[in-house]
Order: sequence, then C-alpha cells, then structure tokens
Amino acid sequence: MESTDYYSDRKFCAHCNQYVPYLMSVDKSYCASCGNEVRLFSKEDWSSFHQTILERRPKGGRPRKNQQNKETA
Ligand SMILES: [Zn+2]
Repeated sequence: MESTDYYSDRKFCAHCNQYVPYLMSVDKSYCASCGNEVRLFSKEDWSSFHQTILERRPKGGRPRKNQQNKETA
C-alpha cells in the first residue's frame, strides 16, 4: 500500500513553475524534467511560510533580572 505524500516527493521548479518530481544531489535537488534547481517551496509558499514563523516568534526578549518580589528576611 503506497501512502506517498504528494509534496513529500515533489519540489517547486521555478523553471517549470510547478511542483515536480526531483532528483536529489548531495545538498541540492534538481527538476527531473528540466534539470534546473528546485526548491522546497514556491516563492509564494515560502514567504507565507516564513511569515508564519515570524508571527509565531515571541516579540522581544525580556532580560530577566533577579526577581525579588518576596523579601525573605
Ligand atoms: Zn523544471
């Protein structure tokens, strides 16, 4: 029973302008049909993906000073 995820074995080829089956190299992947380098997401998908991360990121790191609310004498 094959349960291959569609996007798991396809990447976006900017040349073909669609998600295509690809060939894996050492650190890069190439379109199986045109041979150009493919990326995991299209530009639009990537920007929305990236935006999601930025929005999730907690804003501003609060430097924690020694909290001495309770004074134990
Ligand atoms: Zn291609």
